[in-house]
Amino acid sequence: MKWMSKRFTFVVIPDANQTVQRYRVTGLILTLIPITIILLTICSILFIYLFSGKVAHLKDLSNQLASSEENYELLLTERDEIIGTLEADLFAVSVQAEQVRSKLTDISELELQLKEIAGIEDSTVRISSSSPTDKGGTGGEEIPLLSSTTNAKADHTLQNLTTMSLAMDDMKPSLEATIKGIKKYQYILEITPTIWPADSRKITSTFGVRRDPFSGRSSLHSGLDLGGDRGDPIYASANGVITLSENTYPQGNNIIIDHGRGIETRYLHLNKRLVEVGDKVTKGQLIGELGNTGRSTGPHLHYEVIVNGTQVDPRPYIKEDREDK
Ligand SMILES: [Zn+2]
Repeated sequence: MKWMSKRFTFVVIPDANQTVQRYRVTGLILTLIPITIILLTICSILFIYLFSGKVAHLKDLSNQLASSEENYELLLTERDEIIGTLEADLFAVSVQAEQVRSKLTDISELELQLKEIAGIEDSTVRISSSSPTDKGGTGGEEIPLLSSTTNAKADHTLQNLTTMSLAMDDMKPSLEATIKGIKKYQYILEITPTIWPADSRKITSTFGVRRDPFSGRSSLHSGLDLGGDRGDPIYASANGVITLSENTYPQGNNIIIDHGRGIETRYLHLNKRLVEVGDKVTKGQLIGELGNTGRSTGPHLHYEVIVNGTQVDPRPYIKEDREDK
């Protein structure tokens, strides 16, 4: 401690003819100077070490950033390619959706025609052919990923598909109802006497009041007379059951078919009867031969249509040829 308080004098001689300068310092200061120098040196080394570490880290970060930028560019390119592919796919899908929509419209139009033919009330849901509109509001923030044209196309396609999906949901029960209606129509057609009962189209006497060929007096002719040759085929004009098959006067060999729904047909003056009571016959089936039996002036078929027990004009019932039934 004594050394610390000791004083030391340093003499500095600048030049021979200049005054000598004296510096007086204590032992404490002489001790502190080397310690300070050592501490400063350590601090400098530490600073250089740490700083060089940071520089390396910064370099790394810079490299990473450059690499990230490169990857980002690559991702952007890939994204553009994917969007391009998606846009092409979307276009193809939208074209197909339009085609399917058009076909569905055609199908529902055909169904409508079928319903009209079969006299079924139409409840088919029509597929709208209008384009999507901007009616109604929408909300929420939108981030446009695709171009506005592509977005509009995607919306249109989605709307098309939704409409078609709904229409198809309705189509099944509608088609089932149509099939049911057509089957009923088909059944009614089968039991309605719509075909010519003979090959001959030669009408020798129409239904209505006429002069009786035997008595010469005016009387109601209750059927349609078709001229022909003895033995010509006679056909059932609709599906039904034979309720009469006999030879009586003045009808001659005659057959009655019950078609249901209050409708019967009768075939008179036959040469031969080929069916028996209780037989089920189908439209166009051969049931007898044209003849001249009973009260008849020559070979012909007297054909009657009876509705609820009353003879009516058969002509409006005959809609088609046997072959076309
Ligand atoms: Zn007649």
